[in-house]
Amino acid sequence: MTGTAPVKPAEFHVYDTTLRDGAQQEGLRLSVIDKLAIAGFLDELGVGFIEGGWPGANPNDTAFFESLKSGGPDGQFRLQNATLAAFGFTRRVGMRAADDPLTAAVRDSGAPVACLVAKSHDRHVEQALRTTLAENLAMITDTVTHLRAEGQRVFVDCEHFFDGYRDNAAYALEVVRTAAEAGAEVVVLCDTNGGMLPNWIGDVVAAAGEIGVPLGIHCHNDTGCAVANTLAAVDAGAMHVQGTINGYGERTGNADLVSVVANLELKYGWPVLPAGALAEATRLSHAIAEVTNVPPSGRQPYVGLSAFAHKAGLHASAIKVDPNLYQHIDPALVGNDMRMLVSDMAGRANIQIKGEELGFDLSDRDLAAKITDQVKEAEAAGYTYEAADASFELLLRRELGQLPELFAVHSWRVFTQSHHGDEIDTEATVKLTAKGVGQRVVGEGNGPVNALDHAVRNALAPAYPVVDRFELIDYRVRILDQGHGTDATVRVLIQTTDGRRTWTTVGVGQNLIEASWEALFEAYLFGLIHSQASPEADVEEPAAPVPAGV
Ligand SMILES: [Zn+2]
Repeated sequence: MTGTAPVKPAEFHVYDTTLRDGAQQEGLRLSVIDKLAIAGFLDELGVGFIEGGWPGANPNDTAFFESLKSGGPDGQFRLQNATLAAFGFTRRVGMRAADDPLTAAVRDSGAPVACLVAKSHDRHVEQALRTTLAENLAMITDTVTHLRAEGQRVFVDCEHFFDGYRDNAAYALEVVRTAAEAGAEVVVLCDTNGGMLPNWIGDVVAAAGEIGVPLGIHCHNDTGCAVANTLAAVDAGAMHVQGTINGYGERTGNADLVSVVANLELKYGWPVLPAGALAEATRLSHAIAEVTNVPPSGRQPYVGLSAFAHKAGLHASAIKVDPNLYQHIDPALVGNDMRMLVSDMAGRANIQIKGEELGFDLSDRDLAAKITDQVKEAEAAGYTYEAADASFELLLRRELGQLPELFAVHSWRVFTQSHHGDEIDTEATVKLTAKGVGQRVVGEGNGPVNALDHAVRNALAPAYPVVDRFELIDYRVRILDQGHGTDATVRVLIQTTDGRRTWTTVGVGQNLIEASWEALFEAYLFGLIHSQASPEADVEEPAAPVPAGV
């Protein structure tokens, strides 16, 4: 079964377009903060290129590129592995590229790479763009030449390439040649409608390969073949693969980059990610799902919760003898686990590694096993620590006896009332003791969580003025057991920043406010611990800058 894969090209690109094409998914909305968080996870996965969006056309994307120029909200954000790419169109019909404001937005985005989409299907040129085939070629030449002269690397995405090739192969190939001659480093063939099958893709990529320009592939999943089509293109000589994490994208999605890279690494034996990065794929896929708030598919290849799950019984006893009899790879290669029953992602080794990352010594196997059990139990109840590092650290500290008692909460309550049905007031009361002084503080807000936040902040401020710097930047709710209606368990994730670092905490409950309170409480506790607050001292030291990563 091995030995059929082609030889890896000298240069190979893994190009992620989650933040642009993936964000087209129905119901998916990404803020600038979300995009930064996802970019950080993608960078950790080790993709070569991150397409950040379409500056100039989409205000949110413009803001994302602007934010990256200054290192994100805390000034600490840097891409370690990946090169940033900005998406854009070829210049407008009848205009010079140098005069087109959208071309300028790509040029000035701060991204070293521009990925330009060009029409390559003659009917789209004439009917959608309403121009001549010659003008479309001139638009490609002019835009690529201009951006190259301005010092940007340029990739060209040929939109509707495969449909175009079927209708007018000579013109589709002329577009590829034109882009390459103008200076495009890679010409990417796109199955924009997603209607192709692997053998068609392979034939067309091989034909385009005759031109002698480095080719890329961009597939949508409308035939359920996006990953297979991507691999067929690679087999036919493509050296650049585009996709999105977890296959996000409009309609049925894009090629799932997780499956693509896992196949290339594990089936082809090609190192396309930095060493060791693939073993983080499960964690990163799930962490990104927390940010997008799209429930991860348990049946996702490689990283799904069920990808290596086995029902107990006859089968299970054989698995105990030799697990490889029933699985296509060792799940640890992608950071997943074989499961016999309902379980979770946490393995002892993961916990030990994660604990060390956070600066805790978990080399004691018994201790690590005990913490692993706790994490499993918590995850079974709905907690998630993949995206909520701060709550995980608090759990470790609790277990290791390293949790300072900075404040003690005695009670809290929330009260919402409506006056004659038009105005709704929410008031929260929090009773706590900090540095030996009891506080009973009322906070108002535009909702229960906002009111609780104000109350706890005001109650802590006399003892710990640093809380004034804490800002809740994201609040996310997920219903866990869908189908139970209002009885369902809910999970709340809260992201907080002090302007220097950003942290995420998690709360779970059958009551939305209870779950929110738990996440809120942990957000303040974690922030105070990391601002080096002491239960005794009156003045807290400023927190040391912390490496980027949200
Ligand atoms: Zn696309």
